Amino acid sequence: MRIPLDDDVKRWYQAHVNAGLFSLLSFMGLDTSEVEAEGWLVRTADGREFIDCLGGYGSLNFGHRHPRIVAAVKEQLERMALSSKLLLNAQLAALAHELAAITPGELCRAFFSNSGTEAVEAALKLARLATGKPGIISARAGFHGKTLGSLSSTDREAFQAPFRPLVGHFSMVPFGDAGALEKAIDDETAALILEPVQGEGGINVPPPGYLPAIREITRSKGVLLIADEVQTGLGRTGRNFACEYEGVAPDIMALAKSLGGGVMPIGATLGTAAVWRRFEEQPLVHTSTFGGNELACAAARAALEVLVEERLAERAAATGERFLAGLRQLASEFPQLIADVRGVGLMIGIEMQSQDLSELFIAGVLEQKVLIAFTLNQPGVIRIEPPLTIPAGIVDEVLSRLRQALDTVAQIVSQFASP
Ligand code: PMP
Repeated sequence: MRIPLDDDVKRWYQAHVNAGLFSLLSFMGLDTSEVEAEGWLVRTADGREFIDCLGGYGSLNFGHRHPRIVAAVKEQLERMALSSKLLLNAQLAALAHELAAITPGELCRAFFSNSGTEAVEAALKLARLATGKPGIISARAGFHGKTLGSLSSTDREAFQAPFRPLVGHFSMVPFGDAGALEKAIDDETAALILEPVQGEGGINVPPPGYLPAIREITRSKGVLLIADEVQTGLGRTGRNFACEYEGVAPDIMALAKSLGGGVMPIGATLGTAAVWRRFEEQPLVHTSTFGGNELACAAARAALEVLVEERLAERAAATGERFLAGLRQLASEFPQLIADVRGVGLMIGIEMQSQDLSELFIAGVLEQKVLIAFTLNQPGVIRIEPPLTIPAGIVDEVLSRLRQALDTVAQIVSQFASP
């Protein structure tokens, strides 16, 4: 099937997709289609080539079209695409087995869906089912998705306000404050849901000791700990899973984004045998038609192999250090523009001095043909989340393009500042 011409795409976006979204993208100079991609490169219909430092909002840890993952999906496609769903699913069983081996602690059961928000919905429902309690606590600035349940735990007024009333019995505590959590737990609390490093909240790394402390509090109070590793999982932070940094094993873990290897969409909700007990008594209370389909599971299985064999977590840790060092250097050269640089592995945030500067900087960086964007709950923070396979030489190239964009922004700002 031929790729539609750019002019048609623009018209159809306005007429049939979302005119507001189209205006937003056009305003940022992004009114052309992505038509080809490989590794860390994205090519557009109008002939430009970008270095991808956004990575599909964290869904491209393995890069675009990793050959082993593409081959696994092609092989499955030749055999069977979507199954009847009535019989056993061999790829799903194998993926569940392999996830049990690679994830921390006693996570040994898996439910599959198609996205991050679905993985979180399943986590929230399973927590209520397992405990018989309704209460869910999440962290301020956290992001867990936009379906009603997940949205109830996502801390952004602009995303929640139009959809109230949301799901009941949800509350929030400050991220990084174990004492506040201890106070917030009551007899109704089923679970605490948390990102081990907050992504959309502005790339927030918790203080050392926080995760073990909340693990201890939840365990002692009989509250389930849900780790939302949708964005942090699969090598992104320099470990296979970010909660491994402090040896914390959750009761439930949500995965999605890069689990599909950058080739297929898939979400997974993992749990301990204890969490699953009630679900096993009534296995049809939560289901998904496409969740865990053979194509997506084949992609995820190949992705897990690549993660381990190509030592992607280790590579992310090393490349991340180089990136962070370069960005800190830029922050010291442009203190009037950059307020902070932080992160772990290849999950990096650049906090600008203001949201206006963040928008100007993003426009300048896009001009330099590097794809970046801000974090969804914190538009003043720009995220850097390239494929974990990005070579050191390309990181240096990105840093030099960022410097050029900062130079341009600094010039614009000084022109406005001068009388
Ligand atoms: N949880 C986290 C931590 C996320 O970062 C995101 C997406 N940014 C989600 C859940 C939701 O994932 P999806 O967009 O696939 O629904």
